[in-house]
Amino acid sequence: MKSIADTTTLHNGVGMPWLGLGVYKAEDGTEVKQAIAAALNVGYRSIDTAAFYDNEKGVGEAVREAGIPRDEIFVTTKVWNDDHGRAQTLRAFERSMELLGLEYLDLYLIHWPVPGQFLETWRALEELYRAGRVRAIGVSNFHVHHLQAVLENCEVKPMVNQVEYHPLLTQKPLLTYCQAHNIQLEAWSPLGRGRILTDPVVTAVAAKYDRTPAQILLRWDLQHGVVTIPKSVKAQRIAENAQIFDFALEQVDMDAIDGLNRDQRFGPDPDNFV
Ligand code: NAD
Repeated sequence: MKSIADTTTLHNGVGMPWLGLGVYKAEDGTEVKQAIAAALNVGYRSIDTAAFYDNEKGVGEAVREAGIPRDEIFVTTKVWNDDHGRAQTLRAFERSMELLGLEYLDLYLIHWPVPGQFLETWRALEELYRAGRVRAIGVSNFHVHHLQAVLENCEVKPMVNQVEYHPLLTQKPLLTYCQAHNIQLEAWSPLGRGRILTDPVVTAVAAKYDRTPAQILLRWDLQHGVVTIPKSVKAQRIAENAQIFDFALEQVDMDAIDGLNRDQRFGPDPDNFV
């Protein structure tokens, strides 16, 4: 992890950038397009959207208009909760692809583990994967027990699990489980939606390395082997969040940040979201 171009290799051999741009709540059209252009300009090569974010059209336009070969950009989208089930999921995928205007997708995720439905939805993702429509498939907001259910029933193992992950919610057992099964963990809300940036431990570490708190939090993800997708629509912050490949946190500082864990979520618990 020495450069923004570095990737983690998913268990099917596909390379996924360690850093991506999250675009939740970025408005479709100019806002999301400008954010992506700013990100690609400073070297980001991964964009995380979802059908639910209502900005796939702008994401697709930004990717297609970037002047960068398609195979150098990693695009993720997700199937939303009311589109579970085989037929619905296949339809939702086509709708996303139409909005994105792309020939293939890099990563398709089940956004949340809708009880009683996610196993059938997973089989639809396997179909899309086998048909070559998507280079990798995965899940989001899956606890260990959700993953166990998938692993017991699947033909293709999920390549990624995207979950809320930051120093207040370190989810050690989940990270250990994912690593043991070769499922890449990916952090959403890596900055705690901005609310961890003023934590005194984080600001002290930031001062020690002469970095910003956001850079410290994102570097901490990388050193835990976790892919990270901070969100911003401001060019300056997008650039700041990418300056995390030219320094390393010492173990003592990793430990201090790990010590902030309170099992505290800013988003819903995957066992209780419907
Ligand atoms: P985040 O932790 O990335 O925080 C984003 C907020 O932090 C921004 O709105 C901005 O206010 C602030 N910020 C960003 N960079 C900053 C900087 N350098 N300095 C100061 N403030 C800064 O929160 P998020 O948007 O919730 O998560 C990131 C991405 O994860 C989303 O955009 C989305 O793509 C994904 N996500 C996925 C799920 C899921 O269920 N799978 C849920 C939430 C988010």
